[in-house]
Amino acid sequence: KKRNPGQPEFVQAVQEVAEDIFDFIQDKEAYHSEQILRRIAEPDRVVSFRVCWEDDKGNIRVQRGWRVQNNNSIGPYKGGIRFHPSVTEGTLKFLAFEQTFKNALTGLPMGGGKGGSNFNPKGKSDREVMRFCQSFMNELYRYIGADIDVPAGDIGVGAREIGYMFGQYKRLTNEFTGVLTGKGLEYGGSLIRTEATGYGATYFLLNMLKTRGEDMVGKVAVISGSGNVATHAAEKVTQLGGKVVTLSDSEGFVHDPAGMDQEKINWVKQLKTVKRGRIREYVDQFPGSTFTPGETLWGVPCDVALPCATQNELTGEDAKTLVANGCIAVSEGANMPTDLEGVHYFKAAKILYAPGKAANAGGVAVSGLEMSQNSARISWKEEQLQQLLVDIMDGIHSRCLEYGQQGGGYCDYVKGANIAGFKKVADAMLAYGVV
Ligand code: NDP
Repeated sequence: KKRNPGQPEFVQAVQEVAEDIFDFIQDKEAYHSEQILRRIAEPDRVVSFRVCWEDDKGNIRVQRGWRVQNNNSIGPYKGGIRFHPSVTEGTLKFLAFEQTFKNALTGLPMGGGKGGSNFNPKGKSDREVMRFCQSFMNELYRYIGADIDVPAGDIGVGAREIGYMFGQYKRLTNEFTGVLTGKGLEYGGSLIRTEATGYGATYFLLNMLKTRGEDMVGKVAVISGSGNVATHAAEKVTQLGGKVVTLSDSEGFVHDPAGMDQEKINWVKQLKTVKRGRIREYVDQFPGSTFTPGETLWGVPCDVALPCATQNELTGEDAKTLVANGCIAVSEGANMPTDLEGVHYFKAAKILYAPGKAANAGGVAVSGLEMSQNSARISWKEEQLQQLLVDIMDGIHSRCLEYGQQGGGYCDYVKGANIAGFKKVADAMLAYGVV
């Protein structure tokens, strides 16, 4: 806390990892003496820069941009860019730290990074977003590259923003390389990337359920968020026979007791990515559903839960409510959506609980596959990529089981993910010596 004043999310993320790692390294002298955890918890570098842009009325606006390059021991820095008014250096440090473990867990050669700005894309015209993205890249391009640091999308950064940023990078460097992932299919993007995070979080959920002889059929699912991750999680849960009854945004949540079929999910995707509307509009379209402003949705009874909006959206109290209502499994599509108290509660209750760094790694994994395709200048087929995503999520699940088994059939997935991710990065760092 003293080292990182005013960065509570970063402190929270490091604390959560440290709790598990301390146990694991007790009898492993090299990790101690070489101060590996301390070194991973200090980003390689944090770049902060000014981003000026002109709005449609001709006003000059000034925002702040960052890129946190946390660790590149096992591959180029890799992690998304977030545009949201809540973004601070501390938020991005926590995300870059988490990303380091997540990327290691995928088994692919990717280090950890994260970037973003306190720019709020909501209510801005396309042209304003374009000018902002171009200006952001005018500075960011100095620090990234296909073999150096490969950013992607995150909250507030989807296909439109990646297109504007990639176009500007290409213009500035006169290079066409795979410097960003999440690109459009016409210019080097990969099939399945858009779906990968939400699908992957659902595959992980299914893998956990299977350890208790269960599957998704007939399970009632509550999902938060209504962006990229939430809508694709909803789609896959539905395809596997589950019933999704909620989605949300920062204004509140919709509850649809009849369940959301593909047609309803497609409508939400259009609402959010094309019309850029609010989730409350759902109730006008689909009678029988209700909108509750302001509150969180964790009080809606369910069998499984997928928090897919943002960090710390699920508190200790919410965790208690979920378990009391019969929820048996939680798979985090978002990054660190459960606060520390909630994590402790899920662990104590011994429900199936997957942290974001394991459950939502499908997105960055397919980003890794996009990098491979770009380097080889080829495009893989959809079935091939679908299968690779399933295999990678299976691999992550197995690695969590390997390090997280606690006896009595209970797996602590948080511990498993932390240790498996740490070990890979730590061993590479030991090989490099003290640098
Ligand atoms: P989107 O921008 O597509 O959607 C974000 C959703 O979360 C929106 O419904 C948004 O509502 C809601 N939300 C955002 N901030 C808040 C907040 N402070 N309070 C309440 N609701 C909020 O983002 P993604 O779906 O891409 O990302 C969601 C989560 O998944 C994030 O934690 C992200 O880091 C994580 N993630 C994303 C990956 C990806 O591939 N996209 C990969 C791995 C993790 P509103 O529209 O009102 O803001």
